[in-house]
Amino acid sequence: MKDTLKIVNHEIYISETSTRKLASECSTPLYIYDLPALKKRMAEFKDHFVSDKLNTRVIYASKAFSCLAMNQLVKQFGFSLDVVSGGELYTALQSHFDLSNVYFHGNNKSDDELKMAIELGVGTIIVDNLMEAKRLVQLNNNTERKIHVLLRVNPGIEAHTHKYIQTAFIDSKFGISTLNIEEIKAVMDTIQTNPNLQFDGFHAHIGSQIFELDAFKAEIEKICQFVQDIQNQTQINVHTLDFGGGFGVRYTDEDQPAAISTVCQTIVNEAEKQIAALDLAVKEICIEPGRSIVAEAGYQLYTIGDLKQTPNRNYIFVDGGMTDNIRPVLYQANYDFDIATNADAPKTQSVCIAGKCCESGDLLAENTLVQPYQTHDLLLVSSTGAYGYSMASNYNKLAIPSVVFVDHGKIIPIIKRQTYQNLIARETLIDQELLNL
Ligand SMILES: *Cc1c(COP(=O)(O)O)cnc(C)c1O
Repeated sequence: MKDTLKIVNHEIYISETSTRKLASECSTPLYIYDLPALKKRMAEFKDHFVSDKLNTRVIYASKAFSCLAMNQLVKQFGFSLDVVSGGELYTALQSHFDLSNVYFHGNNKSDDELKMAIELGVGTIIVDNLMEAKRLVQLNNNTERKIHVLLRVNPGIEAHTHKYIQTAFIDSKFGISTLNIEEIKAVMDTIQTNPNLQFDGFHAHIGSQIFELDAFKAEIEKICQFVQDIQNQTQINVHTLDFGGGFGVRYTDEDQPAAISTVCQTIVNEAEKQIAALDLAVKEICIEPGRSIVAEAGYQLYTIGDLKQTPNRNYIFVDGGMTDNIRPVLYQANYDFDIATNADAPKTQSVCIAGKCCESGDLLAENTLVQPYQTHDLLLVSSTGAYGYSMASNYNKLAIPSVVFVDHGKIIPIIKRQTYQNLIARETLIDQELLNL
């Protein structure tokens, strides 16, 4: 169990808030964020991604968990916001986020999304490819404001968890390979033809849930060498480098991520070193953490329903499943599970935790250890704050659960549970004559 959790009378408390009370007041399944823990994590990024030689910018990748209240926090910390769709941009707008601090990503932004970004005054657009650069130049021909542009490049470094490889991988759907200098120069030239667009520099993102800090050092070295090559061939100034996100988090005891302070300082030091060594004109560096900001502050709470024994499994059925957390099914992701109502007992029970969806694969854990349990006990899953709510679906017409912050005993609702009416709100009955045989 996480050391930020407390046990009182066998029961888990999150930021001094009883899990029984959360279940009875908000019902389950429920997404819970420990607000003080979330703020603490954000403060770590703010305090440690700093340099006395370069401007630094933390851009929260909102796809990890996007909603009005989260965007308010991001604004409060002075971070910028990364959005990847018109929907995330609209959420930023409605949360009163300063849109000049928004970074718009995506490998296939539609004309409508680009127009929306231009009209709303999005600060920076990360262009993915030459066709998009041309569309952007066409669409942005009569605005007063300058839009900043970064180009996404693929430095040929692929990192997954504990391994990273330097490849000449040139077939990614994202960005343009740094080996393809001609196309990159074509994008830069295209952007420069439009006086309302300002080419600022490059962006790269090498993967997610990366523990190996050497992968980020290799990325920075590769990008800086590439920038030097480019600067020898064009007059266009490279002012900004954005190294993306992907910093690893702790889901279970097997994950041992470096402290955020170490991650931030490693990146800053390596960037300062490379920029100085190669005498680059770069003035600003950015990172785009998503998971590492929200994952560990988030929890999911379920009520245990029926129990079933099969020859090889002890099933615990819970009142949610792949609809509210698809990561175990999609990526075989592991989590720590606790019986929130019997948390001080040792974890002696080997169980299979199954959701309620009509899908045999709908398991939250195939084989994990929990404390002794009974039906109606509460099950708490830790580190679910990233890509849980944001990947939720309505499969089986299950309602998406509500989301709350907890803060020293206070429960603050931030997203309501969907109602049955919400589930069919966009549907329409058709005329009887169309039904006739
Ligand atoms: C997903 C993504 C991120 C955030 O990744 P995390 O693993 O959540 O930190 C940052 N930048 C880009 C471009 C992304 O696609």
